[in-house]
Amino acid sequence: MAKEKSCGAVVYKSQKDGSVKYLLLHYEAGHWDFPKGNQEKNEKEEQTAAREIKEETGIEDIEILDGFREIINYFYKKGEETVYKEVVFFIVQSATESVKLSREHIGYAWMSYEHAQRKLTFNTSKDLLRKVNQFLYKRK
Ligand code: ATP
Repeated sequence: MAKEKSCGAVVYKSQKDGSVKYLLLHYEAGHWDFPKGNQEKNEKEEQTAAREIKEETGIEDIEILDGFREIINYFYKKGEETVYKEVVFFIVQSATESVKLSREHIGYAWMSYEHAQRKLTFNTSKDLLRKVNQFLYKRK
């Protein structure tokens, strides 16, 4: 079976009141999800995540948080072929507000935890965001 590996990040920014907003992207295919993309040869997972954030959102001021690395996985059909996909996610803090989308996406939004949970399309991403939110909460 074909296998693919991507890396991505849950990007957040801190608000003045101490709460956080998460960055969601509206994919052309219709779903809302986090920035991510294929890991290229000789790239470390963190480098892939950083590159994809830059390509997909234009955001360059990022801090990858220590101590969080979560893998989600799913199967999808590519023509006749079934692909097993793993995506490694990090948590990234940024102070950048404005997003410059690439062609892959048709929209974005900074959302509260509750709003993001309603907007996310895939259950794997909802589970991930729950873990991210807990991680950030415990860190305070
Ligand atoms: P990448 O952004 O990693 O380079 P891609 O754009 O080639 O990858 P995916 O985003 O993995 O591909 O999408 C391939 C298929 O898998 C699409 O049909 C998409 O709807 C589906 N898919 C994407 N994310 C998930 C998920 N978390 N759970 C289930 N299916 C998903």
